[in-house]
Amino acid sequence: MKIAMLARNPRLYSHKRLVEAAELRGHSMDILNTLRCTVNIASHRPTVAYNGETLSGYDAVIPRIGASITPYGLAVLRQFEMGGVWPLNESVAIGRSRDKLRSMQILAKHGLGLPLTAFAHDPKQSAEVIKAVGGAPVVIKLLEGTQGIGVVLAETEKSAISVIEAFRGANVNILVQEFIKEAGGADIRCLVVGGKVVASMKRQGAEGDFRSNLHRGGTAALIKITPEERSTAVRAAKHMGLNVCGVDLLRSNHGPVIMEVNSSPGLEGIEAATGKDIAGQIIEFIEANAKAGKTKTKGK
Ligand code: ADP
Repeated sequence: MKIAMLARNPRLYSHKRLVEAAELRGHSMDILNTLRCTVNIASHRPTVAYNGETLSGYDAVIPRIGASITPYGLAVLRQFEMGGVWPLNESVAIGRSRDKLRSMQILAKHGLGLPLTAFAHDPKQSAEVIKAVGGAPVVIKLLEGTQGIGVVLAETEKSAISVIEAFRGANVNILVQEFIKEAGGADIRCLVVGGKVVASMKRQGAEGDFRSNLHRGGTAALIKITPEERSTAVRAAKHMGLNVCGVDLLRSNHGPVIMEVNSSPGLEGIEAATGKDIAGQIIEFIEANAKAGKTKTKGK
């Protein structure tokens, strides 16, 4: 197969591993810098050019589109889809997952466990929103935040109101969640490939931090997940329409609750924690599924 990977940094562990796993299985893989792809919109002939040349002959495209370039990256991916190339994750599904509120609304609609969550535009409604999630302590999150930045724990209603006012005063969008104290600063990352959890790890936040992000000094370890956690992760992937994703769960008193569904999960932490060849499993999934006709949405 001839595979394209839309990625900006070829030196990232995950990207190197995917290239290695593809080549090991006899495929060729080109890393295309997403921002250097140009899109040519012409009736009946959707094409993508790279360094001035029209791309052709790809059997599959692996999107590894960074959050900061989502709109452009998805436009490029859509163009591949419309040109008949099978994507590992479809542009429509990635778009869904990049919108935190939309993702949570979809997951909740399908009955999946989530922390009680509320949001409002007007800070005058702060007290109402805090009450809706069961009162302080609450977690307040920037909608645009990543890697745990902009995730704040407010212990009292007073501090929650001032944090909400500060964020809203800075004109950023937020959501307010019940604080899942019993998670003890740990979360569980389940890696889903083709409707199965192929690996999972527990991430524990640095001492004194309720956030478990590895970028914030958290540590990863092997964990055995429960059947309920497994089915939550699988159903989350299905309802988001993602073939490959990382589903982050917290263990709450009311069962597993979903934090986030990540459409470009990093492979380094999970391969190190589990010793599994996840990149290889992703390439094998592509081998079994990459057919032009198998794309559901083609960007529409
Ligand atoms: P980001 O997308 O920036 O990583 P998250 O929403 O995943 O932000 O939050 C970062 C971390 O903070 C989570 O992995 C989890 O450990 C912790 N956390 C987030 N929300 C809650 C919550 N409602 N209750 C308890 N811990 C939380």
